[in-house]
Amino acid sequence: MKDAGLSDQAIDAAWPTWWSEEADGSASARAELRFALARKLGVSPKALSNDRVEFVWHDTARFKHLSGEGAVQKAALASFGVAVAHLLLQGVGEAAIRPPSAEELRDAIRDGGAPFVDLTSLLATCWALGIPVIHLRVFPLATKAMHAMVVEANGRFAVLLGKDAQYPAPVAFTLAHELGHASLGHLNGASAIVDLDDPIESEQEDDDEKAADRYALALLTGSPEPDIRTNIGKFGARQLAAAVQEEGPKRGIEPGTLALCYAYRTENWARAMAALRHIYSEKKPVWREVNGFAEDQIDWSALSDDSAEFLRTIMGMPNG
Ligand SMILES: [Zn+2]
Repeated sequence: MKDAGLSDQAIDAAWPTWWSEEADGSASARAELRFALARKLGVSPKALSNDRVEFVWHDTARFKHLSGEGAVQKAALASFGVAVAHLLLQGVGEAAIRPPSAEELRDAIRDGGAPFVDLTSLLATCWALGIPVIHLRVFPLATKAMHAMVVEANGRFAVLLGKDAQYPAPVAFTLAHELGHASLGHLNGASAIVDLDDPIESEQEDDDEKAADRYALALLTGSPEPDIRTNIGKFGARQLAAAVQEEGPKRGIEPGTLALCYAYRTENWARAMAALRHIYSEKKPVWREVNGFAEDQIDWSALSDDSAEFLRTIMGMPNG
């Protein structure tokens, strides 16, 4: 499996804890091991029995912002993500709901009493729609992380986040962008869309990416093209932070998100990132909030012990 490009951490996470040296002597235990690895990594159990690794979802995913990834790497990423999403969806009882339009979703969130759409309200909404969202702490490839992906399985969706962040606004944008792909029907028969790099910061090369960005902006700010004008000639990070904290809530926009919008318009990312430091009282790894929420929402009793253990491991949650 290492030869196929899978990372040690992914193999370790998928390897069942019941496995022992004695089990190696039992044909049925070896078969069960193959099925467990297949379910969790998205590889063919039949090929494993012939000592080969075949990724199941090797040509059913779409990749964005490619930068020289090979076919095997893409297959490993997609298959791992789709396998994880299938397991996650077993722990979500909700029926299939396609995310509504950005405007409808924004109205629903604000009607619920939220002053603006932020990461916390988005996470709650996703789970309420039956769309699980987790932040991966284990990646299938040793050398290549991915920004985020959205998976569709039997009309249901799951979002896997990959890129670490210390502040919630960038993650809220990524999540809203992935919801955009789901809502706008971009999967259209594909099992997954993999955003390898940050959609907000990269040159958008195709229409789907642009449309998903517009969806995200409409959901987070109320406009697919937020009108950001500054009346101060040159904003320092501190001034920008003060301005978005003043203006954001008035317009129903989370201040950190408004700072990112400013960066999007002016392409001054460094200043916006510096402003985030002044906007949020503390730095904290956002994955903890995402996965803490997921841990509460997943119906763990609907999962086998083996699957539950695997999901907890890849979510960076303690087992046992
Ligand atoms: Zn995208």
